[in-house]
Amino acid sequence: MNNENNKWLQEMGLNHPLVIAGPCSAETEEQVMNIAHQLTKTKATVFRAGVWKPRTRPGNFEGIGALALPWLQRVKKETGLLIAVEVANLNHVKLALEHDIDILWIGARTTVNPFAVQEIADALKDTQKIVMVKNPINPDLELWIGAIERLQKANIKNIGAIHRGFSTYQKTTYRNNPNWQIAIDFMSRMPNIPLINDPSHICGNREGLFDVSQMALDLNFDGLMIETHSDPDKAWSDAKQQVTPTRLHEIITDLIIKKPNFEKQEAIDSLAKLRVEINTIDDDLIAILGKRIQISKQIGLAKKEKNVAVLQPNRWQEIFENRVKKGGNLGLSKQFMEKLYKAIHQESIKVQEAVIKK
Ligand code: PEP
Ligand code: MN
Repeated sequence: MNNENNKWLQEMGLNHPLVIAGPCSAETEEQVMNIAHQLTKTKATVFRAGVWKPRTRPGNFEGIGALALPWLQRVKKETGLLIAVEVANLNHVKLALEHDIDILWIGARTTVNPFAVQEIADALKDTQKIVMVKNPINPDLELWIGAIERLQKANIKNIGAIHRGFSTYQKTTYRNNPNWQIAIDFMSRMPNIPLINDPSHICGNREGLFDVSQMALDLNFDGLMIETHSDPDKAWSDAKQQVTPTRLHEIITDLIIKKPNFEKQEAIDSLAKLRVEINTIDDDLIAILGKRIQISKQIGLAKKEKNVAVLQPNRWQEIFENRVKKGGNLGLSKQFMEKLYKAIHQESIKVQEAVIKK
């Protein structure tokens, strides 16, 4: 992203990449202060903490509420970090403004609801505060852009966006699938809106954070929001994905950060974007092969039940010819399609035999 576009980032002296860190939820005053003080030894310049927590199922910890807002004010006073909270309705906005919160963000479950977004936009009309919009939980670019347009129409100038991935019914290795292409399309459609990546909610675990963060920087994201807790395993929400401030520091230090005005930047950008497309396609390909093998297992079970042989030469010949022909129509060579389908078929037979022998 071009420097001119990051006006609020620049004016506020927020470094590239912007690092927002802090716990998923504010739990106690001691926890909040402890994490914030540790973060002063890292590159984080913004402290995040959820005080109203939207939980998928009822009965879990739903946040401390407004009582935690003075703790955040204390963070700002003692550490100089800017403070950020999630707001989901008019009342949250009022309370956040009363407590002089610097950055208000709209969560993924709220972005999906134009009524709620409009209520927040109206409550924030003409504000100088920074307002960030997370992508909606469903992969809908228009809904994400629409939420930002509602803020723009309310004359809110300091707007940012957060890419936190998208919900899928069938769980993948990610908690929320990154669908990088949507983030890339967002950048083209809204080039003036700084875009932050949230690897924590994309991964849902600690192990994936580095790679997702590096991918985001390779794609010229403007910053990262990473959930950080002094004792992650004991966190009251999202325990699996939070890291300690020490680990956060390591991640940020190890990331390779490209200079915005690097020569040949455009060539690098387009290469990085094409690589993302390939990665995304490979993820889909692997998921589909996984699904196919599961069905092969079921077929194996059915054959066992009916005492039918694993290999039916006619059926196989029919599949083979049909797939080779379909591949040919898409420019895939006969030789390649034959090799590919023989490999898939062999694996399928192996799996079925294993099921039958069991
Ligand atoms: C959060 O940032 O703690 C949060 C609730 O995220 P999301 O809206 O992305 O689920
Ligand atoms: Mn969280």
